[in-house]
Parts: sequence; C-alpha cells; structure tokens
Amino acid sequence: MGMVSKIEIKQGDITQERVDAIVNAANPTLLGGGGVDGAIHRAAGPELLAACKKLNGCPTGEAKITLGYQLPAKYVIHTPGPVWHGGQRQEAHLLQNSYANSLTLAAEKHCQTIAFPSISTGVYGYPLAQAAPIALKTTSHFLATASSIKNVRFICFDVKTLAAYQQAAQQLGIS
Ligand code: ADP
Repeated sequence: MGMVSKIEIKQGDITQERVDAIVNAANPTLLGGGGVDGAIHRAAGPELLAACKKLNGCPTGEAKITLGYQLPAKYVIHTPGPVWHGGQRQEAHLLQNSYANSLTLAAEKHCQTIAFPSISTGVYGYPLAQAAPIALKTTSHFLATASSIKNVRFICFDVKTLAAYQQAAQQLGIS
C-alpha cells in the first residue's frame, strides 16, 4: 500500500475552495474570459490579471501557474482545454494533457490539495459524458505515481456536471 490519495467529487464554487491550488479553465490568451475564468478573476482581484499578462498566453493542453492573490487558494493553475469540434481534432488527447500538465505543475510546487473545474464542458462544448471519464482517469493514473498530491477535488458547478462525474466515477470504480 502506498500513500493514501483521494479523489473527491462535489458540487460547489471553485473560488471558495481552500486548497493549495485551484485550476482555471482558461483560454489561450490567459487574459480572462467568462465562466469559471471570470469567476476566478473576480474573486482573486486585479493582481491575478496583472500576473497573467506576464505569462504571454498558454497553448491548449499546457498549464501555467500564478499565485491566488485574494483567493483562499495559494496558487491558480491556468490551463486552456480544447474547444470541441466533434472529436476528430485531438480533443481527448488535449483534454488529458490539460489535467496531466496541471497535476505535474501542482506537484512541482509541492501542492498537496488541488481542485479542478470541469475543463472544456462549458463554453468550449466538450460533451460532459466524455470529458468526465477523461478527467477522472487521468487524475487517478497521476495519483498512482509518486507525487506530493494527496487530495484532488472535482468541483462541479451544477447538478448535471455533478451527476456526470459521479456516474463516470462509479463506472471506473473510482472514489
Ligand atoms: P470552458 O471554456 O473550458 O468550457 P467554462 O468556464 O465555460 O470553461 O465551463 C467549464 C465548467 O466550469 C462548466 O461546468 C461551468 O459550469 C463551470 N463553472 C462556472 N463557474 C464556476 C465556478 N465558480 N466554480 C466551478 N465551476 C464553474
């Protein structure tokens, strides 16, 4: 038996999470947007945008880190997930990269607790039933490797998202 690491799924607002790092479903400019990105920038305050401006954007599937400023979280990890174009444009691979690269960056910063929103399933249109198992599988594979991360929370903003993650977890035998 290795270190206990745990995946949790719950409904909530990610800006309220008291964790080492929250993940932002950003866009490649990193200059803010709607949805969870807008909520994170509003809650973190203007220093977050100032820090993001220095990062020169971020390619889809990659991840960059800033402090959390006024948030209860110490860090924000910004990752642009893929826009859904029907599934034939590497969307699954890019979504997996967003989760894996965010977790790698969190581990490099010695984070123990991390919270994810449902990346790409809002404005970017990724089907929830396909995105949820990718999120959970990628995370559970990562947690099986040695790292600082002990707790990963999937913060589902609405009931529909919560149900999709719960169903995927059940089907995968996770948490
Ligand atoms: P994307 O462009 O990656 O699709 P969105 O922000 O449009 O990103 O949506 C991603 C998910 O984040 C959606 O499930 C949306 O309902 C959810 N969301 C929006 N606001 C919050 C919040 N404050 N906390 C957690 N999730 C949120």
